Amino acid sequence: MPVRTIRPPGLFTVAPLLVLAPFCSAPLRAQQCTVSPAQVKLGETLRITCPPEFTSAKLNDRTAKLFPQQNGQRFGLLPISVKDTPGTFSLTLSRGEADPPETLQVGIRKTIFPSQNVTLSPEIEGLHSTPEEIALLNNFKENISDSRSWADPLAPPVSGCMTSPFGVKRLHNGKPTGEYHGGVDQRTPEGEPIRAVAAGTVTFARQFNVLGNAVGIDHGQGLESMYLHMSRLVAAPGASVQRGDILGYAGSTGRSTGPHLHWVLYVNGINVNPAQWVKLQLCSAAAKKR
Ligand SMILES: [Zn+2]
Repeated sequence: MPVRTIRPPGLFTVAPLLVLAPFCSAPLRAQQCTVSPAQVKLGETLRITCPPEFTSAKLNDRTAKLFPQQNGQRFGLLPISVKDTPGTFSLTLSRGEADPPETLQVGIRKTIFPSQNVTLSPEIEGLHSTPEEIALLNNFKENISDSRSWADPLAPPVSGCMTSPFGVKRLHNGKPTGEYHGGVDQRTPEGEPIRAVAAGTVTFARQFNVLGNAVGIDHGQGLESMYLHMSRLVAAPGASVQRGDILGYAGSTGRSTGPHLHWVLYVNGINVNPAQWVKLQLCSAAAKKR
């Protein structure tokens, strides 16, 4: 059989070369990394996939490590905070010293979050975290395993509808707190089992003044989850859990006005919107009244 040689069409003829010339000043290179979504809302997470030589991604002051995956590619999560500024920004993807970084454009969309007032009794409003509790939580957010235990899709920790979505501006007894809702609240009767959204390692399972009985899980490669206000804990610190394992039972411990599950997703220590990761239904206005 004759050997077919594949010749780039037109490259050796003069006319197309002249046409191409203005575009040839820089070496032609195919886009190597991808980012999803390219238009992101405040509180959402960017998923970045690159060839193996890329090691990190940077957007403004925030850096994310890109980890080797089983398919040979690199993958990383970069969180967009509720407090970030909307606009168009360059995502810089680095691959060591020798080669220049690649850049991708990311649009951060203006995102409107509603306000919500929470009525708290003086005893509940008076609850505050101790310095030891704050140190433990900071340590949790800053130390994440490099090995990935999580996989898509995450599982909802309980089945109830959402009574308060992520990002809501919080008022306590009518006064603005300057804080936003860093997780979601799901309607959950007292005693309902609370399940791990993904596999991981339990970093803490203990009582806190504000969080009540709480569990924190390290899922690896940037992702962590936390579950609050439980009546009873089942998970033990250091234990490995699988997606769907029972961590404890719903309650109203800590700064809480009634049984529900408040849970949080952290990406590289920043609160992100769980509704981007898990399908969650907002409760209807009528159902919201207790
Ligand atoms: Zn909450």
